[in-house]
Amino acid sequence: MASRVPRILRTLRNGFCGRCPACGRGKLFESWNQLRDECVICKFPLVNLQENTWAFMYLSTAGLTGSLVVAMFLLTPSDVKVGRFVVFLVAILGIAGTLPYRKGIAIAIEYLVELRWGGGEHGGGEGDEPESHGPRD
Ligand SMILES: [Zn+2]
Repeated sequence: MASRVPRILRTLRNGFCGRCPACGRGKLFESWNQLRDECVICKFPLVNLQENTWAFMYLSTAGLTGSLVVAMFLLTPSDVKVGRFVVFLVAILGIAGTLPYRKGIAIAIEYLVELRWGGGEHGGGEGDEPESHGPRD
């Protein structure tokens, strides 16, 4: 079924917006950063995707931290205390504040990887069509 074939950008957008990568309607998180066990709409087992998101989360955190360090080298505040406060604020908002968005993208990437190359309990194997979730028709 052609409508069930995920498009990469749509799936990544769903993850960024905190929606299920499989159906795009159910919410990923129960609370701010608490992933649901499964999608309330299509019953896709979301918690299984969480296992392999550490690499993306680590790399995105390192990238944000590195960007902050580079910005600290390039910018010279007129008042050091104000500069420290701004660095603290940007670090909290940039790293912790983006956590659910980055985790949603990581879940979407893992969904796409499992769909394409997984073939496991929630992947579709060689094909592009999900096999093991959603209503059969
Ligand atoms: Zn869903």
